Amino acid sequence: IVAVQRKGEEIDTEELKGLIEALGGEVIQTVIQKRRSFSPSTYIGKGKLEEVDKNATLIVAYHPLTYSQKRNIEEITGIPVMDRTEVILEIFARRAKTKEAKLQVELAKSYYKLSHIRGMGKAMSRLGGGVGTRGPGETQTEKEARALRRKIHKLRQEINNLIRRQELVREGRKRKGFKTVSIVGYTNAGKSTLLRSLTRKDVFIKDMPFATLDVKTGSLFLDGEKVLISDTVGFIKNLPHELVASFHATLSEVKEADLLLIVFDVSSEKIEEELKSVKAVLKKLNSWDKPKIFVANKIDKVKNFDIEALREKTAGIIPEDSPLVCISALKKEGLDELKEKIKEMLSLSGEK
Ligand code: GDP
Repeated sequence: IVAVQRKGEEIDTEELKGLIEALGGEVIQTVIQKRRSFSPSTYIGKGKLEEVDKNATLIVAYHPLTYSQKRNIEEITGIPVMDRTEVILEIFARRAKTKEAKLQVELAKSYYKLSHIRGMGKAMSRLGGGVGTRGPGETQTEKEARALRRKIHKLRQEINNLIRRQELVREGRKRKGFKTVSIVGYTNAGKSTLLRSLTRKDVFIKDMPFATLDVKTGSLFLDGEKVLISDTVGFIKNLPHELVASFHATLSEVKEADLLLIVFDVSSEKIEEELKSVKAVLKKLNSWDKPKIFVANKIDKVKNFDIEALREKTAGIIPEDSPLVCISALKKEGLDELKEKIKEMLSLSGEK
């Protein structure tokens, strides 16, 4: 990992490390350089680049790189380079299972390529010399850019068609009167585990970020009433903008839900920060004001777990009148209480 730390900026390489491990990589070195700004040609200083371990098979930059920064670092070190955005795109590409997810990833990759082709065009026209010279390189990149724009247009159409079809499915469910519950939360909070514990549905679970890209739905029976419960994509802070749009499409499931289960990991050191990112995403989706239950998960990992202390710690984020249920999705503790609360919130107890 190479990172530039600008004044007043906090560098958290832990998350990036997790992302690299999710791709099967191992981080052998972290080079951080304090600088006023990025080097326009090589991101971190040329001298600092010499410190990079020659055994590395990949260099990952903490910040987004321009086309020429990437090429220059590769030329100087002889090691392939990726930036954080590319790492995330690669993870999504490997995890995407449904047609929609695959198209979304393809779209995000095309946007990324297009932005880099623009940079490439600039670099080449500089090489071309005088104003108005149109080097052969430039026309080539123009051609590629045009092809990419056409591809993006087509992908967007395909995705829109798919989304429209999914909307019809959701409407159908609504007409049949099923209530829907969406599980949301920061990546790795235990959403898939909870869905599986509640519905016995076999979903893919790994201790890796973004194991969930596609929405999975299972059914839960509460007093004989069928409730559809789905697990959504994990939220993450600083998502590359290429992927934000994909998230929003996938998250339309959340907007339609009758109830949200906001799952968070009580053993995390960053509970407040993670809850805040979840709140920010829900606010963007206009879904923060929906009926919701906060689900404190992984209590088996915390010694002497104290719910009052948790309430206090999260007072600025979890509204006082929102239910908070403590569970262990893995050990199946607290699930009965959670189901009771779900029933209550969906008014399935026959009172209404
Ligand atoms: P998601 O990304 O939110 O869907 O998270 P997962 O359900 O994939 O869980 C992430 C990791 O946390 C997995 O290794 C799970 O086994 C683990 N996990 C989930 N729930 C619990 C729990 O209640 N207790 C403990 N100790 N681990 C859990």
